[in-house]
Amino acid sequence: PPRVTYSNTGTDFSPVHDRLDQLFPALEAGLGRETVFPLVEGHPVTGTVTTTIRSPIDRDMTLAEVAEASAVTVARAVAVARAAQPAWAAMPWPERAAIIRRAGDILADMKWRMGPLLVLEVGKSRLEAMGEAEEAADLARYYAAEMERNLGYERQLPRAKPEESCGSLLRPYGVFGVIAPFNFPVALSVNMISAALVAGNAVVYKPGQINALTGALLVQAFLKAGVPAGVLAFLPGGAATGEALVADKGLDGIAFTGSHAVGMEIHRRFAAGRFARPVIVEMGGKNPAYVTATADLDRAAEGVARSGFGLQGQKCSALSKVYVAAAIYDDFLDRLTARTATLTLGDPRRREVFMGPVIDDRAAARQAAAVDEARRAGRVIMGGERLGGGIYDRGCYLAPVIVDRLGPDHRLNSDELFLPFISVQPFDDLAAAIADGNRVAYGLTAGCYAGRQAEIDLFLDRAEAGALYVNRASGATTGAWPGHQPFCGWKGSGGAGGKGGLGPWYLPQFMREQSRTVML
Ligand code: GLU
Repeated sequence: PPRVTYSNTGTDFSPVHDRLDQLFPALEAGLGRETVFPLVEGHPVTGTVTTTIRSPIDRDMTLAEVAEASAVTVARAVAVARAAQPAWAAMPWPERAAIIRRAGDILADMKWRMGPLLVLEVGKSRLEAMGEAEEAADLARYYAAEMERNLGYERQLPRAKPEESCGSLLRPYGVFGVIAPFNFPVALSVNMISAALVAGNAVVYKPGQINALTGALLVQAFLKAGVPAGVLAFLPGGAATGEALVADKGLDGIAFTGSHAVGMEIHRRFAAGRFARPVIVEMGGKNPAYVTATADLDRAAEGVARSGFGLQGQKCSALSKVYVAAAIYDDFLDRLTARTATLTLGDPRRREVFMGPVIDDRAAARQAAAVDEARRAGRVIMGGERLGGGIYDRGCYLAPVIVDRLGPDHRLNSDELFLPFISVQPFDDLAAAIADGNRVAYGLTAGCYAGRQAEIDLFLDRAEAGALYVNRASGATTGAWPGHQPFCGWKGSGGAGGKGGLGPWYLPQFMREQSRTVML
């Protein structure tokens, strides 16, 4: 087989591929027989109606039957979590941190099962799937380390009076509902779950509807590491399960990652309680990149293609708009289209494939509608076709789309598409381009390619987004890693708390402060 490299890093991933070549057949042979059940107090909840999950790679491939958690099961899980949480919170924080770190180690050991499962479940490329499995392990270890670095968030404070001791500590809220998305089902679940748990909360967890297999596996990692069974419930299911969870008055907080529409709806519903409870949300994006006349254009084309089309554009962080200096516009567009033409689209079980299928027919229909709209405006530069024949008739394999000069007010320049679709436009003035990029309702990530420091400074100063990237070949707007690139949504991409996952300010959001003044 050909040597497969990331062109920008030169890393040889052949050993990873060789191992995956051996793992896929055995994994597939064992699939489709299992029923995944909700887990409450460590026990499967049987007796519910099941639904079938199929791979987006090939709809004929059944991954599992899933018993979706009913409203009754949700209510019981929350009640069990409430009863179990005080003992978990009372455990000394170094012990909780050690358990969560162990969960990270177990997740790391699981990566050769988790990675291939992610390929089948989400349609990710092999390397993105393995990267996510590793990121999940690092996330659990990261929050364990943050708890330790902050000494359990306990502080002595100066005495107001000599006869009184003063202190502040952060304490858990109680029970968090955790609702995760389909696109990074393992990393983003582990992000929310480990932060909530290490802080001393119990967690009632609902994975994305199609992610019951990876969800069940990651829950096993936490339980095996020593998280008490009552403290972490697993509730696979769809919208009905999620609605029952959000409506449960027994929750003390919610952590959600997913679409803007659902996130805002959760905000509204959750606010209907007796008092305000924390809603920690990470939502969509309409993420721009700026390419100036002084930029390294090959590097920019590489980073733009990777961020626009990696995981078929189905990342909150995906790049969707590129502003290019007029002087180099045609040159850049040539390089971008040439690079995009070399991205392999197909069955992501294959080693050379960079783009697999989009998640479902609805995503494919959205893409067809967007391409149609752009075509009517005469602005499609490349892409928009759909692969057919064999498994390509049983999954939605869409060629990446590049459109240009749609005009600043076109809806395709403001709506999040969550598709492999990039819109390119020229600019004369960088400050004006950044202002236009800021006009959208989102603010998750943004990228810039420039050779002059003044341009970079302008970008860093003006771009309204929680995560900024400069001159990155591996991705213009994507590829955050725990402890290095906190992932924080501004405006419509995030919540009012505004502290991102993967970073040092995330964990405290799962706790509330208590000051303690004690007369000596
Ligand atoms: N962690 C991913 C990245 O930095 C994005 C996760 C998401 O789509 O929510 O690209």
